Amino acid sequence: MSGSDHHDHSHGEESILTDIQKRVKALESILVSKGLVERATIDQIIEHFENKVGPHVGARVVARAWIDQEFKRALLEDATKAINSQSDFPQVGQHLIAIENNDSLHNVVVCTLCSCYPWDVLGLPPVWYKSAPYRSRIVSDPRSVLKEFGLELSEAKKIRVWDSTAETRYLVIPQRPVFLGVKSESELAKCVTRDSMIGTGKVSPLSEDNVNG
Ligand code: FE
Repeated sequence: MSGSDHHDHSHGEESILTDIQKRVKALESILVSKGLVERATIDQIIEHFENKVGPHVGARVVARAWIDQEFKRALLEDATKAINSQSDFPQVGQHLIAIENNDSLHNVVVCTLCSCYPWDVLGLPPVWYKSAPYRSRIVSDPRSVLKEFGLELSEAKKIRVWDSTAETRYLVIPQRPVFLGVKSESELAKCVTRDSMIGTGKVSPLSEDNVNG
């Protein structure tokens, strides 16, 4: 998706809201009956956002950055270019900036204006990301908001809040926790949570396989 989608908020995530879901269905029916769109096209778009793009893409990017120092260097320099240079990652159309957490700095991402989000690497934004309280409070009181998310940071750690724009999206590269030990890229990727790449969550000590039993 390009930056031009900035204020197009027909993302589909609203479908969890029943009244909106009904309105979307009604609108979809009208567009189809007037021949303006085909249902197959709508299904393809939904399939794209549900299965092709999503946090699993960002998680693989982070895992590769943890393992491959040269890729990490390129990623921090120009994330879009670095990801697009890898043949096994989906192409990134957005201007993406990767920001790295370290021992003294924690990064967190917001769109104070609306809901701009790195769709190419994280898929659809969570509902809370688009909520007015998150968008205002993460700026005015980030430490408290992060605590509510279960991220209690030491007072010594600085927090930097990155405000997304139509032109620029951010991906947080969380620190690789020592507890993960030595793992392959795909194993590491399973531990990189969506929220850790927004800056509101932790890397999971359990891979998806472990979580699922
Ligand atoms: Fe926005």
